[in-house]
Amino acid sequence: MSRLEKARELAGRSGFDAVFITPGSDLFYLTGYRAIAAERLTCLVIPVEGVPFLVVPRLERPAALASPVAGLGIEVVDWDETENPYALVAARLDRDVARIGLDNQMWAEKVLAFRAVLPGATQHPASEVLRELRMRKSPAEVDALREAGAAIDRVHERMGQWLRAGRTEREVARDIAAAIVDAGHERTDFVIVASGPNAASPHHEVSDRVIQPGDPVVVDIGGTTDTGYRSDSTRTYAIGEPPADFRAYYEVLQRAQRAQTDAVRPGLLAAQLDAIGRDIIAQAGHADHFLHRTGHGIGLETHEEPYIVANSELPLEPGMAFSVEPGIYLTGRHGARIEDIVVCTETGGERLNRTTRDLVTL
Ligand code: ZN
Ligand code: ZN
Repeated sequence: MSRLEKARELAGRSGFDAVFITPGSDLFYLTGYRAIAAERLTCLVIPVEGVPFLVVPRLERPAALASPVAGLGIEVVDWDETENPYALVAARLDRDVARIGLDNQMWAEKVLAFRAVLPGATQHPASEVLRELRMRKSPAEVDALREAGAAIDRVHERMGQWLRAGRTEREVARDIAAAIVDAGHERTDFVIVASGPNAASPHHEVSDRVIQPGDPVVVDIGGTTDTGYRSDSTRTYAIGEPPADFRAYYEVLQRAQRAQTDAVRPGLLAAQLDAIGRDIIAQAGHADHFLHRTGHGIGLETHEEPYIVANSELPLEPGMAFSVEPGIYLTGRHGARIEDIVVCTETGGERLNRTTRDLVTL
């Protein structure tokens, strides 16, 4: 069954009359069409009964027809600059729709415009449907994630070429960004180089701080490959000899992260996986210093379902791919994080990032 058919079936079971998908990862997942997200409306409409159609601005019709959309039995309907494309969608739905699903990245102005032309319909997140499909990766998707993981590993392996005392975080990050593309990504998504006290801020990006001897440096990097699938891996480096207490908690973090990646198997709850690392870190007296969830799913987005968080009763299933990235952060001083992408298999877990998790001193 195609992804489109599965989505339609699930939408029906979830009580939707139609699902509307604007450009983004859901549209790419369902159709292979990488459309531009812009002010003009492009929208795939999947009625639970009837033929799916893609509304596109006239100038984008050739691009839509050149995409895999043409082979999927989707009717391409274009609209002219002066037409109201929302009214066009409403008119083409041949029966009353009471409940519609909207992709969770739809622009607010589009959500509101759909509300105006379909005042009788209630709007709901289509993620109810899409998450069920996208959360469990097919073998081909896992291959694509494996390739992305290997590509980002090649960047971490070269870190000694760029990361050293006397350079700013920004200078180092610029080199890393170029290397992410050189290593086989189509584009760089993010580069975090957090040195010294900045390492204690989990989502610090870069600054003009000059890296000092003895600094721990958190390097969290990722990109998108030509398949659309993404990488995300963190290693923490030390510039020369780091502070003694840093070495001590890095060892705890490494033990926690290893215990978590080793524990991945079908049936384990996301909350249980989170607790495995959190307990080890708490026993070492750092409960308050691990201030975020264990991880997030990854695929066509860097952050997607499933989230590995303390209040999630979701059981892991084969094909689920997510990060395992505990951290310890001492505000104002330094911090550390270790992050691998792991795929749940039939029997356990497969780590897609393979560079050493021992502390690398540069
Ligand atoms: Zn990351
Ligand atoms: Zn991550």
